[in-house]
Amino acid sequence: MIVGVHPLAGFDKLLHYRVPETMRAGTGVGSLVRVPVGRTMRLGIIGEIGAPKDFPLDRLKSLVQVLHPFPALPPDLLGLARWMAGYYAAPLDGIIETMIPAAVRNGAGLKQEKLLALERKLSAEELAALEKRAPQQAKLYRFIAQQFRAQKKSLVLSRLDVTAAVATALVKRGVLREETHRVERVAYADDHARGELVAAQPPKLNSEQLASVTSVTASLAAEKFAVALLHGVTGSGKTEVYLHAIDTTLKAGGGVVFLVPEVALTPQTVARLRSRLEAIAPGHKCVVWHSHLSEGERLDGWLALATGEARVVVGARSAVFAPVQNLRLIVVDEEHEPAYKQDETPRYHGRDVAVMRAKLNGAICLLGSATPSLESFSNAQSGRYQLLELKQRVDNRKLPHIDVVDMKIEIMRQRGMTTLSRKLVDAMQARLERREQTILFINRRGYSSSILCTKCGHSEECAHCSITMTYHRSDETIRCHLCGEQRPAPVRCPACGAPEIRWRGLGTQRVEEAVRRVVPRARIERMDTDTMVKKNRFREILGDFRVGKIDVLIGTQMIGKGLDFPNVTLVGLIDADISMHIPDFRANERTFQLLVQVAGRAGRGDRAGEVVVQTFTPQAEAIQFSRHADYAGFAAAELKLRKDFNYPPYRHLIHHLFRGPNPEKLKFFAEQWAKLIEKTFGARVELRGPSPCPIEKIKDEYRWQLWYFVDGVTKVIGDLAKLRADFAWPDDLTQVLDVDPVNLS
Ligand code: ADP
Ligand code: ZN
Repeated sequence: MIVGVHPLAGFDKLLHYRVPETMRAGTGVGSLVRVPVGRTMRLGIIGEIGAPKDFPLDRLKSLVQVLHPFPALPPDLLGLARWMAGYYAAPLDGIIETMIPAAVRNGAGLKQEKLLALERKLSAEELAALEKRAPQQAKLYRFIAQQFRAQKKSLVLSRLDVTAAVATALVKRGVLREETHRVERVAYADDHARGELVAAQPPKLNSEQLASVTSVTASLAAEKFAVALLHGVTGSGKTEVYLHAIDTTLKAGGGVVFLVPEVALTPQTVARLRSRLEAIAPGHKCVVWHSHLSEGERLDGWLALATGEARVVVGARSAVFAPVQNLRLIVVDEEHEPAYKQDETPRYHGRDVAVMRAKLNGAICLLGSATPSLESFSNAQSGRYQLLELKQRVDNRKLPHIDVVDMKIEIMRQRGMTTLSRKLVDAMQARLERREQTILFINRRGYSSSILCTKCGHSEECAHCSITMTYHRSDETIRCHLCGEQRPAPVRCPACGAPEIRWRGLGTQRVEEAVRRVVPRARIERMDTDTMVKKNRFREILGDFRVGKIDVLIGTQMIGKGLDFPNVTLVGLIDADISMHIPDFRANERTFQLLVQVAGRAGRGDRAGEVVVQTFTPQAEAIQFSRHADYAGFAAAELKLRKDFNYPPYRHLIHHLFRGPNPEKLKFFAEQWAKLIEKTFGARVELRGPSPCPIEKIKDEYRWQLWYFVDGVTKVIGDLAKLRADFAWPDDLTQVLDVDPVNLS
């Protein structure tokens, strides 16, 4: 038997090996194996069964080890990896490494025993020489040479009191041999989260939920690939719909992947989900998957799924690669979240990969959000996805009332720059008296280099690209980083002539100080990346907030996701503008999403909620439509704009970044490359740039970029990748392709 193996770690090629007789059982496509490559040993994945066409068979080497008696990469994942390699123009080995957790690959978390055995007997002279030169090595050699069987390495080392380096030296010289022996262990990750579990009785579905569940159940029964977009306002009970779909799938013997944004994986959510899942499907364990797992925990979860012991995984982005068997359903909650996009190679989008994986399996992909991405929404409009809607909050609770405060007027009234409007201060004080709680949000997607007039709310936009111009201090210009247009930075507002044109937004600390001044008696906590460096601090604060030990919680939108605190009746958004002025065509969409999600945190109990939004541009569409949570209205307006400017979902974008120490050289090569692209692709690719990135320099490296606007990624990406591989890039220039980027700044 001969197999083709994709070696991991820096090889993007298929190499062939013989499979020794003893290893044949259980070895097949997707098996994780150890193979000799040159003088080293590498891990690899079997990609095909069969002999090579252009390599002499008598020179083939053999597999050294098969790590698991089942495929580490089931066929659907191997297919997915190949699709990703093509679509994202990323090396296959890196993708496979992303798919298989490090603990599984490097064996660190595997309960493995290392054994030492004799490989070659030394002659008397050799042994004498060794005694002289390295007495420790001789001691170890003599001990092992006397044994009949391989010995447990750790035991031998401690008994003889020699270091691991001594053993390594002998192994290197081919005298001893190291073997690994695997100890099976299957358990379930994150069992400690169970303490907080409230055995929730499933509520009776309302009619909208029931309609959605019925529809998904029908799709599941059809056993054909389909995508459904569940668009439900905040608090409409989307989770119940997911749970019913999962229940149906498990009862039919299928497997489930349930994706949530990393930040939403709080212990409460996880505990609630697990208790429900384990209640609806007794005997089904639910594996949890996120970035804070230890290697051992991750390995346990992975093994449970790969062996079919567990059939449900709940996790963040990378859980889309969990080795779930007989996958029938993938749920992507908060599908609009930019966090689903990975910002290092391979730069995949968890939601898009989920849709593809469902397709490869003939499974159902259920996307859910209160504010769907315009990509998904337009797919629903065109009929490619099925649209399911929940328009009411459960029990017909009201969506909160949204007050928009015009900060321009507030500044005039309070005679100067101010952090908190009168309205917000009054509302906070009222909450304190009624012993209700407040959350204040600060817009984290702050972009300090935009320009905004605090007198009239004007900001400078590019006429061609409809995105905010970026301020470059180095040469006092403002530039469009899409098309490269530039002009001198204004010292006065071009619209009203006022000099107050450089506004930077506020840090969480400034806001905290301001709050302390106006409600000195309140118990206040701040949650941002500074205060969150301590592990578990996040959980602690949320716990304290839940039991009412905190009156006012201040934080970035990281606390905005999926939190459900019934006693929160006031939510304030300090600076709605900032996300509107990031130099990104999705700025409006992000702002609308932020406002709706933030407002959704208020009034989840029996009392109605109130939301105060502070902004310099109250007339902006993102703000006006969010006042009534009018998603359809917003989407219609925004889609028109996207169409006019040729942005997604009408076109796909590919971003090409060039970085290096020499800005002139970057510019030169970026321009040469752009010419080549123009010549090769003609009208198939619309180019914008090359131009300097909005952040021109990071860690002594300059950055330039080029944008490709294309009709379909698959139509051009192969040619583009090939052209790129053949181009003579200088050694000190690094370039990165990002397909369907989500953050343009
Ligand atoms: P969403 O994700 O749509 O914002 P959730 O799924 O978090 O909403 O549901 C909000 C709250 O409503 C939860 O506490 C949930 O238990 C509850 N809930 C969901 N469906 C029902 C229902 N049919 N009847 C009563 N309560 C419900
Ligand atoms: Zn432009």
